[in-house]
Amino acid sequence: MGALPPLREVIARHGLSASKALGQNFLLDEQLLDRIARIPGDLVGKRAYEVGPGPGGLTRALLRAGAEVVAVERDRRCLPALDEVNVASGGRLRVIEGDALAIDERSEAGDGAHIVANLPYNVGTALLVRWLGGEIWPPFWASLSLMFQLEVAERIAARPDTSAYGRLAVLAQWRSDAKVAMKVHRSAFVPPPKVMSAVVHIVPKAAPAGVRAATLEALTAAAFGQRRKMLRQSLKSLPGALEALETVGIDSARRAETLSVDEFVEVARAIPAAGKIS
Ligand code: SAM
Repeated sequence: MGALPPLREVIARHGLSASKALGQNFLLDEQLLDRIARIPGDLVGKRAYEVGPGPGGLTRALLRAGAEVVAVERDRRCLPALDEVNVASGGRLRVIEGDALAIDERSEAGDGAHIVANLPYNVGTALLVRWLGGEIWPPFWASLSLMFQLEVAERIAARPDTSAYGRLAVLAQWRSDAKVAMKVHRSAFVPPPKVMSAVVHIVPKAAPAGVRAATLEALTAAAFGQRRKMLRQSLKSLPGALEALETVGIDSARRAETLSVDEFVEVARAIPAAGKIS
């Protein structure tokens, strides 16, 4: 990497006052950013996809780690600063101006990309659900290393029988390994958000055979939609679910949060695909 001015200077020179509406809380500490960029593992010669590079702190760290970076940024004020980062990296950064929810990241980032981002809080969960969903597995991405509010990060990595355990945990863990890789104090951000943050690290694993993602999603939505109720009540409206509980031998008096991820998978597998129920 060629020399670049400090991020504080870049923010001042380009007038990048943080916009609340765009979820802008910037990270400026290079050592912290380098630690985040190490979470996906060795990035030399690999492709990284970043949502919301902002003034480019994490982008610089990914480039220092040897990655080729494709980044999508909605705030056009950031583009001149990112252009300087591209030049200093010898052309290893490509920035797309736009909304991360609206672009086809698979064709932009390519298969095998590591997704690394300090996500804007307002679109973070929607992006995560999109990356974890769908019937095609393994996904196009090799890993996800994503900054969330700590409370959301804990829900993603939660274990059964905890208050944090719910739909996000099942969605994140039924065909991936998910863990909280690093907690980040609110004071590390400019401006500091109200709550603590954490980076979750998610790596896909083999999907269990014979389970449709759509069925599992419908099952967890129904089960956790009424998490304090017994399954016999919360799953009543999902066709085939009560029969599936019986088939796999799960007591319908249990509540959703007591079922392991594997048990949810077993129940989903036993629910006939829509249209096949007589
Ligand atoms: N990566 C920078 C850092 O760590 O300092 C900035 C992180 S800041 C939490 C979130 C960034 O996402 C901001 O730069 C914001 O402009 C951008 N952003 C917000 N909504 C977006 C969207 N829908 N698509 C793409 N970028 C978005």
